[in-house]
Amino acid sequence: MDFRFTPEEQAYKSEFMTWLEKNLPLDWDTSTYRVYHSMEEWAQAHRDFQRRLYEAGYEGLHYPKEYGGQGLTLMHQLIVAESIAATCIELKLPGVISFGMAAPTIFLCGTEEQKRRFLPKTFDGTYIWCQGFSEPNAGSDVVNVSTRAVKDNGHYLVNGQKIWTSFANIADWCILLVRTDPAALKHKGLSYLLLDMKSPGVEVRPIRQMTGDSDFNEVFLEDVRVPEDMLVGEEGQGWRIAITTLMFERAMGDTISAAWFLRNVHSMIDMARHTKRSGRPVIQNPVFRQQLAQAYIDVMMLKCHGYRSLSQLLKGGIPGPEGSIGKLLWSEANQRICRTALSMEGPFSQIMGGSPWSVQDGMWQYLFLRSKGNTIEGGTSEIQLNIIGERVLGLPKDITRVARIEGS
Ligand SMILES: Cc1cc2nc3c(=O)[nH]c(=O)nc-3n(C[C@H](O)[C@H](O)[C@H](O)COP(=O)(O)OP(=O)(O)OC[C@H]3O[C@@H](n4cnc5c(N)ncnc54)[C@H](O)[C@@H]3O)c2cc1C
Repeated sequence: MDFRFTPEEQAYKSEFMTWLEKNLPLDWDTSTYRVYHSMEEWAQAHRDFQRRLYEAGYEGLHYPKEYGGQGLTLMHQLIVAESIAATCIELKLPGVISFGMAAPTIFLCGTEEQKRRFLPKTFDGTYIWCQGFSEPNAGSDVVNVSTRAVKDNGHYLVNGQKIWTSFANIADWCILLVRTDPAALKHKGLSYLLLDMKSPGVEVRPIRQMTGDSDFNEVFLEDVRVPEDMLVGEEGQGWRIAITTLMFERAMGDTISAAWFLRNVHSMIDMARHTKRSGRPVIQNPVFRQQLAQAYIDVMMLKCHGYRSLSQLLKGGIPGPEGSIGKLLWSEANQRICRTALSMEGPFSQIMGGSPWSVQDGMWQYLFLRSKGNTIEGGTSEIQLNIIGERVLGLPKDITRVARIEGS
């Protein structure tokens, strides 16, 4: 397999990079990890960037023009997404659910009206989406969702609670998994709604994380009225659609994460050159040299895996359970990379950003703390291993899980 871009693709990348350099926020510094002071500031930076991207024709590249896309290929989308990840991924992160989950799901499973209404405004950053799947008693076992939606005069009346809902505090819309038929088998009683986060009865309570940020939330839903035409697919298809959504979350993310982590590995190499331990630059220490090489190998494996998934998508496939391999690779690699960086810093690893003594302005402290959630969000590592074992390798099923899904 040839991993190089064709001359046309290379030219497209150069053209985009020229655009990107001119359109970054004025004070953007690609050598640091930018943490915004508030969610609102971060969301605004994202919306502004998204609008410029869209107006220049660099968003929704592989979607049809009638839905606000550019009618180009997934390869164009990849070139743009990789270039952004290597330069300023922070500007894109508040849209991670919008582009990784909401847009592809609406495109594949939504009604014509939903596609025309939501896709263009998602691409241009007008709408930020969040994902309301997890509940206090439904995480790995998302099939346990108990938030109820009852038909009521052209609406669904929704009551329940969601948790760990990333970006709910800045989101305009939510892809929401609800139970419409409590009498049916657990996975057959679920439906998939699009919820306007400004609806009366929606209360969002941010949860403070150990990074100091509050980018996930509890969401309380009390007698929230969702119009019936906000149902995606048929009633009772929620589980199937949710699985499609989760597979999309896992598919394109690998190549984007690889480009982002490569930027971080380069920062780590730079730090290794300029940090001394026992009077010698860290980069001369054989143990750290091994770890740096391992970090690079991890990133390259992730990139190759991403390209393999991408070539399947380019041939017209939809993402399958093998996406779990990438999820496992990126989440565990990122944790290893962050640990390596902190061990290189030695005693300075205790100092967060903002101090004159912090190394690289506390970038690695922030990334290390945030990376702890990587092996939980989007499905834990144990669940990915189950999926790989059962659905990729065809090993026997986890009996306890089958029993729970079938409600027996
Ligand atoms: C940073 C972050 C962001 C998130 N954002 C969102 C979001 O935007 N929207 C959303 O809906 N959710 C979100 N989540 C929630 C996430 O999807 C869940 O936390 C995750 O699916 C695990 O569910 P749980 O927390 O209920 O843990 P549990 O399911 O209770 O699992 C507890 C432990 O048991 C293990 N376990 C469970 N079942 C099995 C099994 N069958 N075999 C082996 N081990 C098992 C798990 O691996 C885990 O170690 C986010 C989580 C994090 C950390």
